[in-house]
Amino acid sequence: MKNYTYDAEKLKDWIKKDGIKKFAVQVPAGLMHHAKAIREEFSAFGDCYIYAEPSFGACDFPQKQQIQYVDGVVNLGHARIPNITSERVLFLELYADISPNTLSFECSPEVLGKHTALFTTVQYLPLLPSIKEKLKDAGINAHIGRPGKRTMYEGQVLGCDVSSPCALAGYVDSYLFVGDGDFHPHGVCMQTSKPVFRYRINERKIERVQFDRERFLKKRYGIAYTIQKVTDVGVVVCVKPGQLRMHTATALCDTLRQHGKKAQIIYANNISPAILDYSGFDLIVSTACPRIALEDYINYKLPMLTPQEALLGLGEKKEYEIDQIL
Ligand code: SF4
Repeated sequence: MKNYTYDAEKLKDWIKKDGIKKFAVQVPAGLMHHAKAIREEFSAFGDCYIYAEPSFGACDFPQKQQIQYVDGVVNLGHARIPNITSERVLFLELYADISPNTLSFECSPEVLGKHTALFTTVQYLPLLPSIKEKLKDAGINAHIGRPGKRTMYEGQVLGCDVSSPCALAGYVDSYLFVGDGDFHPHGVCMQTSKPVFRYRINERKIERVQFDRERFLKKRYGIAYTIQKVTDVGVVVCVKPGQLRMHTATALCDTLRQHGKKAQIIYANNISPAILDYSGFDLIVSTACPRIALEDYINYKLPMLTPQEALLGLGEKKEYEIDQIL
């Protein structure tokens, strides 16, 4: 597969061990344009179909009834979330095809501080030891945190679990994300006032991640307190296996009712403004992927809160807490 490598032995072992003859490959949304090439390549291992529902993460894989005509599913690109049961699903990580010898960047302890916490997504994990060595040569101690509850590897983060780098808060001056995009470094920015940097490998540079935490918190506090003014609250439960927080939702409904609110559960697979904005509720609390309420709220007409924000608005919590699925 162009620009990526994967462990073909892991795929072969799964096929052999589980007696897989027919399997479907669930391709991440961002790699769908490679779907045809992936199917052709994976056909060497068995009868291979493309499962054309995109996957937004390791939290999002098909259930038994959706895959009854195949023996198993390969969820491509993501590492398994250790505390989620997944029957007949193989999580096959994809790694960026980059030689550690080509890594290059300039940095100094004046910018990053003497201690930094390195973190990344699955695709760049194999490069972390080499980056750590290069930082050491520049006089910077790079620390790689233990896996979180939802991650498999040291230094790995998900949008819903940045506990690997954040557990090092007491030891580091800064955080350094390896990769592109804002989604994952912003997850850390929400948790800390220390500087967060990003190493863009292709651009060979380390830059500060822009995030106005004070503005973010002010906005979220404001949204949290809107719950005091409303009556009808919809509590969203997402049925994707790794987003399903029914216990959180039912406990929250009980608390909302104790505060005089009318609370109902909304059960959904894909959450969208087209459904929720016309649901008749005054406000939505989302127990699905935390980043929907924290970042996509802007697309919704109704105020959307995380469970922690709802509790803060009701006076059940004193401090603001970022929602993570831990
Ligand atoms: S819950 Fe959200 S952030 Fe976590 S893996 Fe799923 S899509 Fe990613």
